[in-house]
Amino acid sequence: MRVKILGSAAGGGFPQWNCACPNCRRVRDGTLNGSARTQVQVAISADDSSWYLLSASPDLPRQIEGFAKLHPAAQSRETPIAALVLPGADLDQVLGLILLRESQPLRVYATPSIRRIIMENNIIFAMVKNQIVWEELAPGKDCGLTSVNGEKSGIRCLPFALAGNYPHYVSPEVAASLPSNEALLGLRMQTQGGGALVYMPGAPSIDDAWLESLENCDLLLFDGAFWTDDELIRIQGSGRSARQMGHIPISGADGSLRKLAHVRKPRKIFIHVNNTNPILDEDSDEYRCVHEAGWEVAHDGQELTL
Ligand SMILES: [Zn+2]
Repeated sequence: MRVKILGSAAGGGFPQWNCACPNCRRVRDGTLNGSARTQVQVAISADDSSWYLLSASPDLPRQIEGFAKLHPAAQSRETPIAALVLPGADLDQVLGLILLRESQPLRVYATPSIRRIIMENNIIFAMVKNQIVWEELAPGKDCGLTSVNGEKSGIRCLPFALAGNYPHYVSPEVAASLPSNEALLGLRMQTQGGGALVYMPGAPSIDDAWLESLENCDLLLFDGAFWTDDELIRIQGSGRSARQMGHIPISGADGSLRKLAHVRKPRKIFIHVNNTNPILDEDSDEYRCVHEAGWEVAHDGQELTL
């Protein structure tokens, strides 16, 4: 399996347009030892010719332009993008769908609840209504991914439910009417050749129920949004904690670094990194700490082969 990280930042990207935190200021003036990043987006392929997109980032059109494998082939309107797989309904995971608005058919894998939120709660998504062929993801149910033209991908997808909530833009009444296990998924993608990737750009907690999936994969792309629980509150002076926003922080006794320390087989990479996170600064103690614990920090353009 080939894995291309097209975007590695959390919602807002890095730098974020309205942010003057130390990271954003320093990446703008060129004094940060680290790189700018677009919003999280991953592309995978088992045959190096048809590609499956994990998430639908608001930066998707320019991410496609930046990776030649996703450019249309000789024939006009012939895209190597076979389908999209959505782990959740947060705006940084779904807005890209609107930006692909053309007459081009798209195949999109999502839970029925995420499909409902996208198609029934946002009038603007009506623009792509006739373009999308929906395929159902059911937590715990393994499925073979198929392209929009009906070709088999050679990739199997096992979605597993995370203890996440529906996004804030979904009304409380609608959110209460939807099953909680369809709000947020981890995705385990496996090729016939054996390479397995687990993709979790948003993880509110670490549950025993799916820990085994992590231990048996080759590559783990895990939620690296925040270093500490109070990071945004400290920098902005107000707001919600990392956990309230559905992200387990990296540091601390209950943080992901400590809780996943025993997971040794996969290459472990933090993705979906918020612009305030000190691990974006490669000279920081936090960056060193992550590296010493055997983790990497994803960057845009990174390519991995499993
Ligand atoms: Zn910032």
